[in-house]
Amino acid sequence: NKRDHDTLSRLASIGQVSAGIAHEVRNPLTAVKGFLQLMQQESPHVYLDIACTELERAIETLQNLLNVSKPDLDEEPYKPMHLCVELESILQLFQDQIYRVGIVKNLQDTDVLIYGRRNQLKKAFFNLLKNAHEAIEGDGKITVSHRRVGDRIVVRVEDTGMGIPTEKLELLGTPFFTTKNEGTGMGLTQVFSTIYQHGGKIEVDSVQGSGTVFEIHFPVMIQQDIGVIELSLQTVEGQS
Ligand code: ADP
Ligand code: MG
Repeated sequence: NKRDHDTLSRLASIGQVSAGIAHEVRNPLTAVKGFLQLMQQESPHVYLDIACTELERAIETLQNLLNVSKPDLDEEPYKPMHLCVELESILQLFQDQIYRVGIVKNLQDTDVLIYGRRNQLKKAFFNLLKNAHEAIEGDGKITVSHRRVGDRIVVRVEDTGMGIPTEKLELLGTPFFTTKNEGTGMGLTQVFSTIYQHGGKIEVDSVQGSGTVFEIHFPVMIQQDIGVIELSLQTVEGQS
């Protein structure tokens, strides 16, 4: 049940195309909503109310799509960061917000540096953890660990949730694919596009009824970059 890199890059570009469309459609809709609101002020009507509410919903959906696909247009720079240290703080924040599900961490290799967009990565791991949490009914466990594989670091997010049926695996990351009543289907689109932009890849393994594993591969910064690392690190730490 492994996903390959080509599929991921295809999904990422679907995200980019969708973002372009979202942008083009959102602007005229926003204009229409503005005029409807003016009409509503002149002579209030319940149909105008409904039209405004529905337009608002459509605009919000488009905004969601733009938020996840925007990273390329985003100015957030890539900086050297200690992946495990960042993960620790994300996990702490997440653990504080959930009950009944324990997070087990195994992230002792704190020296590993990657080039990353901190906020995008935070969002991506948050989306993965949120899905893991939502997949667990009642008690359960999320395990986050990492290992080195050559010039890569692999972060593993494992949950004891309901799992994903094999035929659904290839839909993961497609914009709007969701199996949840209140889902947006945007979380994994953001994850895939972010990880892909970091030169990484994602593998998903799932057994229905027992759990899911997401493995995120990142390229590690290499030795000869070390002079640069030390300079930039001060800036990174100075921000926090
Ligand atoms: P959303 O969470 O809004 O549904 P996502 O893009 O985050 O959208 O996830 C899409 C779908 O992928 C989910 O609706 C769910 O069916 C499936 N999924 C993602 N992560 C997991 C997981 N850890 N366990 C089980 N199913 C998952
Ligand atoms: Mg989600």
